[in-house]
Amino acid sequence: MQKTICLSFDIEDWFQVENLREKFSPEIWYKCESRVVKNTIKILDLLDKYNVKATFFVLGWIAERFPDLMKEIHSRGHEIASHGYGHIINYQLTREEVFEDIKKSKEILENIINQKIIGYRAPNFSITKDVIDALEKLGFKYDSSYHPFSKNKRYGKISIEKKGFFYIRENLLEIPMSVWKSKSFELSIVGGGYFRLYPFSLFKKLALSYLEKKII
Ligand SMILES: [Zn+2]
Repeated sequence: MQKTICLSFDIEDWFQVENLREKFSPEIWYKCESRVVKNTIKILDLLDKYNVKATFFVLGWIAERFPDLMKEIHSRGHEIASHGYGHIINYQLTREEVFEDIKKSKEILENIINQKIIGYRAPNFSITKDVIDALEKLGFKYDSSYHPFSKNKRYGKISIEKKGFFYIRENLLEIPMSVWKSKSFELSIVGGGYFRLYPFSLFKKLALSYLEKKII
């Protein structure tokens, strides 16, 4: 069986992460130095070099300000998907606000690349029932927000617990994050914070070991 890694990137700026929210509230984001274009181009060049295609989960707030970056990602053959609009944890929003946030980001992205957006990843993996309801209603085909890593309490929870990809609704595929688990221990092996914090040798070892287990 061919083993495959699904490579994806969440496209947002450094001041939008939840851990900096107290110092950098959304009202002052417009004043912060943006680094997202330069860094995304670096990723695109690296992917071109190795002829690898990926999915870019883009924040609507970013897409609105940098439409040319969206066109660049799209024209280089990668998938553009939604990371919501305002990067607020979904369970801090009302059901209506969740729907509006996802709808707004989908419309912005579709208007820029002129193509249907079918994938979504929640900020801080804050999957909730309201999110799944909204995605289903808005015609998304897949969600990639479920992170089954029990040590981070900020992540969202769902009632269904399954391994690998699974249909969370009839027409909505769930593509969860990868977590390396043994009987007594677990480590997340998705990127972002974990990729930056672990020594690369450890990250690589965990990823290879995870693939060997044929969990996907
Ligand atoms: Zn994010």
